[in-house]
Amino acid sequence: MNKFSLRPLPYAYNALEPYIDALTMEIHHDRHHQAYVDNLNKALEKYPEFYEKSLEEILSNLDAIAADIRQAVINNAGGVYNHDFFWNIMSPDHNQEPSGALLDAIVKTFGSVEEFKAQFAQAAASRFGSGWAWLVKDAEGNLKIISTANQDSPISEGYKLIIGLDVWEHAYYLNYQNKRPAYIENWWKVVNWKQAEENFAN
Ligand code: MN
Repeated sequence: MNKFSLRPLPYAYNALEPYIDALTMEIHHDRHHQAYVDNLNKALEKYPEFYEKSLEEILSNLDAIAADIRQAVINNAGGVYNHDFFWNIMSPDHNQEPSGALLDAIVKTFGSVEEFKAQFAQAAASRFGSGWAWLVKDAEGNLKIISTANQDSPISEGYKLIIGLDVWEHAYYLNYQNKRPAYIENWWKVVNWKQAEENFAN
């Protein structure tokens, strides 16, 4: 039986400095992300058949989860999955810009990259409490900006993830304190647009 495990961060803790500091990355990955892994494994102890499933399978079919652990699985499988996605949608190769088919779709949908970023930042800044902002692709292939509460993952609603931003305070508070908009603005500098383009194409 293979329980879920924490995937390593795909770059050094300080790779996103000065926009996201090394200590925030270390605590975020090694403690917060680890806690989602540990709590997911704990929640599934009574239903070990779920250890054999992928996070995508689990989160795409929440009705299949027993009611007594469903919320714990939504919180913690979502926490594991969303953070795996988040580390990979940021890059040590800073200041990337969108290009190719994704750029075309963003311009077609939102008018311009600047307008897209403004709408995304608004979704991220206005998410009350803890949650995420996302650029997703719906079943018809249309781009949409959404935000989710807590660790709810858009894949549970059938969306394909293109980019996602963690706006829980644990993601930025050490460096930015209450200034979530400043964190959001700086975050664009570390977005991995090459990965976003792959997400969009797949
Ligand atoms: Mn987080």
